[in-house]
Formats: sequence, C-alpha cells, structure tokens
Amino acid sequence: MRWSESCIPTLKENPREAEIPSHRLMLRAGLIKKLTSGVYTFLPLGFKALRKIEGIIREEMDAAGCQELLMPILHPEEIYGESGRLSNFGPELFKLRDSRNRVFALGPTHEEVITMIAREEMRSYRDLPQCLYQVLTKFRDEIRPRYGVMRAREFIMKDAYSFHATEECLDGTYRKIEQAYRNIIERCGLDYRIVEAESGYIGGNESHEFMVLAENGEDRILSCGCGYAVNLERARAKEENMARGGKGGDRYSEVATPGKATVEDVAAFMGVSPREIVKTLLYRSGDANIAILIPGDREVNDIKLVRIMNDPAIRFLEPAEISDLTGGPVGFSGPVGLPAGTRIFADEMVKEYSSMIVGANRADTHLAGVKEGRDFRAEGFGDFTMAREGDLCPRCSTPMSQANGIEVGHIFKLGTKYSSAMNATFLDEKGGSHPFIMGCYGFGVSRMVAAAIEQKHDDDGIVWPASIAPFDVMILPLKTGDGETMETALRIESRLLEKGIGVLTDDRDLSPGVKFKDSELVGIPLRLTIGRKLAEGKVELFHRASRQVEEVPVGNVVEKILDEILGSK
Ligand code: ATP
Ligand code: MG
Repeated sequence: MRWSESCIPTLKENPREAEIPSHRLMLRAGLIKKLTSGVYTFLPLGFKALRKIEGIIREEMDAAGCQELLMPILHPEEIYGESGRLSNFGPELFKLRDSRNRVFALGPTHEEVITMIAREEMRSYRDLPQCLYQVLTKFRDEIRPRYGVMRAREFIMKDAYSFHATEECLDGTYRKIEQAYRNIIERCGLDYRIVEAESGYIGGNESHEFMVLAENGEDRILSCGCGYAVNLERARAKEENMARGGKGGDRYSEVATPGKATVEDVAAFMGVSPREIVKTLLYRSGDANIAILIPGDREVNDIKLVRIMNDPAIRFLEPAEISDLTGGPVGFSGPVGLPAGTRIFADEMVKEYSSMIVGANRADTHLAGVKEGRDFRAEGFGDFTMAREGDLCPRCSTPMSQANGIEVGHIFKLGTKYSSAMNATFLDEKGGSHPFIMGCYGFGVSRMVAAAIEQKHDDDGIVWPASIAPFDVMILPLKTGDGETMETALRIESRLLEKGIGVLTDDRDLSPGVKFKDSELVGIPLRLTIGRKLAEGKVELFHRASRQVEEVPVGNVVEKILDEILGSK
C-alpha cells in the first residue's frame, strides 16, 4: 500500500479525550475514528490488525474442532424473557421497535439464539457434542464506555457455545478452548495470565478469564509462580502469620483515645501496629443490624460481603443509626456490649487473634485485650476482606504478586442454566430427556487490538508484535523527488509483495523528520530507509521493537527481509 493513496490520518498532538496509551495511539496512528461515544470506525490500518487477530482466532477455533456460523444481530425481545435474562442485562440491552411496534434487542451475546437452534436441531445424544462459534458485532449500552474500543458500546466479539450430554464431555471441550485461547494470545505475542473467575471455594460453575497484562488494565490480578492467578476482587485474603495480640489478661481494659477515630490514629496513639486493632463495620441487611469485624489494616470486599450475606441491598448504617444502635459515635464502634439482636460476623483472620483492640461504643474510648468467645461471640466467620499483594496462594501458600490486566477472553461452564430455562433437551440412549449441558466462550476481538497496543508501545508509538502488525515492512524513501530512490523503493516493494509480504511504502513528499516520526508512531516491525547512502549502494534496516539499526547492501536487502519475516513466521 502507498501511504500517499491511503486513509491513514495520523495526528501530531495527543487527543485530549484519550486517557490511556492504547486509546491515544489508536487515534494518533489513524487506526480508529470516533463516531459517537463508544462507537468507532476501524480505519484501514486498524482494520488490518483486527483482521490478523480474527484470522488467528479462526485458525485456533477451527483447530479445536469448532464450526463457524453467523447468527443475527437483531433479536426479538421475547427470547430474553424465555431465558429470564431480561432483568440481568437491564439498561445494557439496546432496544428498538419495528414498524409493527414489536420490540427487538441488538444482540449483546447469543446464548438465547444458539440455545433455540440446539433445541430444534440437536435432538439426540448422537448429535452431541457440538461447538459453534461466530465473529460478530455485539451491542451493549455500557454505563461508562471508555478507552476507545477497549470498552465500547458496539464491538466485535468471537463467541462460541458448546452442547454436551455429560459434564465430562463439557470439561473436555472447555480444556480444548482454554488451550486454543492460550495459543491465540501467545501467537499474538502478548504476556497474559489465566485467572479463576469463580473461586472454587465459593462454589459455582467453573469460569476463567484471560488477562493481557498491562499497567493500565482495569482488572487487578494476584498471581503466583505455581501458575495460579485470580482476580483481586475474588481472591482469598490470607496472610502468612495472622497470630495477633498478646495473651491478654483475665479482663479487657479500657483505654482513653481522645479524638482518635481512625485505625491509624488509634494505633499511633497507643504505639501499636494497625494490625493489632480490629475494625467493626456496621451494616443493615433487611431488618437486621450487622457488625462485620476485620483486621484494622484491611478493607471489606463488598462483592464478598454481598455474596456471603446473600443481600445485594446490604448497606452501611448512617452515623445517626450508629449512635442509636451503639450509643457511641462513628469511629468508636466495637463488638462488646452491642444490643441483643445485632448479628456479629468476623473475618476468618480475626479468629487468629489471641486478643484484640476494638472500639468501646463510647466516644474517645477503646478496649484492649478483648477476646472473641469471652467478651463477645461471633455468629460466624467468613472471608470478608479484600485481598492484596503478598497474600498467600491458596494452592501452594507462597505470597502472590499483583499486576493489572485487560480481560480479553472469558470461558464459562454454563451447565444447564439456559437449556433448562428454555426447555432445550436431547434424548439419551434409553430415550430419556435431559437439558443440554452447555459451555460458552467469549473473546473480545476489537478489545484485543487495544490490549496489544496497551502492552506493546513506547514513548514514540506502537510496537506491533509481528504476527498482528498491519504490515510486515515499511519502506521509507526519504527523497521522493529523486528518481533512483523511488525506483529502488518500488522495485523492493514489488519483490516483497510477490512473496506475500505486507508492505506500506511512505511515498509522501514530506520532510524526513515527519516521515520518521509517523513511522515510529504506526510501529511496523521492520523499516527500510532509502536515503543518502543509496549512492554507496546501502540502505538502512530498522527493527522497531529492539531499535536496532543495520546498514545493508541494497542488493541483499530483499533476501534479508524475507529471511527475517518468513523465519519468524
Ligand atoms: P467486562 O467485565 O470487561 O465488562 P464482560 O464480562 O461483560 O466483560 P463477556 O460478556 O464475558 O464480558 O464478553 C466476552 C469478551 O468480550 C470479554 O472478555 C471482552 O474481551 C469482550 N468485551 C466485553 N464487553 C466489551 C466492550 N464493552 N467493549 C469491547 N469488548 C468487550
Ligand atoms: Mg461487561
């Protein structure tokens, strides 16, 4: 492709709307163009990268034994009534009406449509297993579309769905897709982690997310050298040595803590570590007042709290409610002497305290040497706190380290959730009828372009991994007005094209400075500069990733490029 004839609108300045490098670089390198919030065009350069990723995904899905199909985007709203998912999606579902006033939704994902297909077309165990996939535009009215195509309202997803007669069979396909996803991300040249999305100890169906590591990723991940990785929000909080507090006396003692309402202030004032203090957080769930006790240097994880208490509406008590309940002000609550009926739960780590410092439910006072079981009783213990870097791996008990990631893929054992709700069954050998056992497997194709750039860029621009770069080579004739320069450029271009190499030739009549800057920005892996040294029969080869430069005799350069590119493929 010749740049002078292409739509590659690079920008000199950073667009103000872009908060993270990938968004900034996709706009600046002319890969995407915004139509409206969360809705983007993939311009020719961006589209080429997208197509390469799609190609890798298709090859790996086909190799895993899946079949490609294409389902409609326009869905009659009733199908979401059948699956019971209408309320799950809520405002994320885009809806519209046809001329007869029927309501339709723009597909956010396709479990309903595919389950309807299976219900009619897969009648017997002999038809199973099957795994079907598509690459299609999805619509979700995200509350906060952001970071360009990373979290868009219209985006491209590869979604696959599998149907099975047995759990073992589902497990087999699940492992194959997991491997396919590993291959996809590795072939795209990116570092990643696979995280457990549903922690085993909480129960629920197996599910894994594929995270491309990047500083600005929205997801926080804890991972361990043994290969275990987990979403921070879902990780178990567990420390190496939780034993806290001294022996404590026969009784707890009162400590005056004037004006010290935060853990840090109390700890500093008493000359102890915040870890010695146990925080009491007061909530309301239904009609009950609930006290949750956690180590002073930790925070409650709201997701876990909602799950353990089984109440999405659980809320903090207001300050006035706290003083009504405890008789003391905010900052001085504690578990000792709470009115009857207050339900007390404690984090599992609190179990390990031989004694603890807590609020006295009185202004400016704390209690030291308090013991659970003697001075108050917890109704139950649970994993209530937010995990953090250094917490122990549940598999091998080594401290885990934290990184940020971008979720590019998500695989899920659905079980019979949709097939039961939608009455999609098959007949077994004996004629018995059973709902299909299902799996679903999503991969964010357009998000993957942004994720790759988020991981692979430097101060000057994008650093494309070779396998997904829009072009393999960029040819940069510096003096386009010079006959020999242009002749050489076009001769090399045509020889490379003949061999199936993707070539972008910057034939624009611009200053070398501008052309060099643009070439760094768009980040094609190899750049061949044809400049002043051509008079000596030499051209310059530049590797974008390593920034290595070599002078090559012009007669050898095609072979050298072919060796490098074909050798790495
Ligand atoms: P997220 O937690 O990021 O909202 P999700 O759990 O809603 O993702 P899934 O429904 O599992 O995502 O969709 C499968 C894949 O589609 C995701 O792993 C992600 O790569 C991609 N994806 C989801 N939402 C978007 C979006 N708004 N824009 C771009 N890609 C998306
Ligand atoms: Mg989402």
